[in-house]
Amino acid sequence: MATILIAEDERDLNNLVRRHLEEEGHQVLQAFDGLSAAHVALRERPDLVILDWMLPRLDGLEVCRRIRRESIVPILMLTARSEEIDRVLGLEVGADDYLTKPFSIRELLARVRALLRRIELDRDGQATEAAPPVLTLDALRVDLSQHVASVEGTLVDLTPKEFDLLALLVRNPGRAFSRDYLIEKVWGYDAGGSDRTVDTHVLRLRKKLGSVGDRIETVWGIGYRFAKTGDS
Ligand code: CA
Repeated sequence: MATILIAEDERDLNNLVRRHLEEEGHQVLQAFDGLSAAHVALRERPDLVILDWMLPRLDGLEVCRRIRRESIVPILMLTARSEEIDRVLGLEVGADDYLTKPFSIRELLARVRALLRRIELDRDGQATEAAPPVLTLDALRVDLSQHVASVEGTLVDLTPKEFDLLALLVRNPGRAFSRDYLIEKVWGYDAGGSDRTVDTHVLRLRKKLGSVGDRIETVWGIGYRFAKTGDS
């Protein structure tokens, strides 16, 4: 079904997860330290990476950063430190989901299924998960089926690409997206989008959105996110 990389230095745990994933029909790659995890992730291009935070040679955060520079592969982070979850979850590092140790195999398999389902939906061009057709964030209202956005009840005149970019950001408030990811999702790899294209679209969006324009924040070293709350 899918190719999944497990990066975990505890061999028993790594092998246990491997066995269960293979039972589900997946092909499994294993890495036991951070350096080889990053290498394997970028060379073999798995469909999903299960990445432990505490790894020898290169910690999980750095592995995650290295993968994110080149790939949008979903990353499920394993961590024993629940207080670090905000950092793990995308904003700084770019992981898609996390599990705190100890976790049950059943829970892990459920997360894996959810992440794989999400990429299936993305591939089919469907909306991610069951996104509601109208998103409202304070003064901003984004109607995904009508492809219109309004601020304080006034329609904002957006180009189709500007709308797609806004919709993607607003659907995932608080989550940081790399420019590469945005290019792939909004312009498609072959359409000649560049970092500059993303930046100019964001600039225009900010201007057009007026009072809520500042909600599109630059995340240094990563890209952009739509702030969850207006006062951040
Ligand atoms: Ca570990």
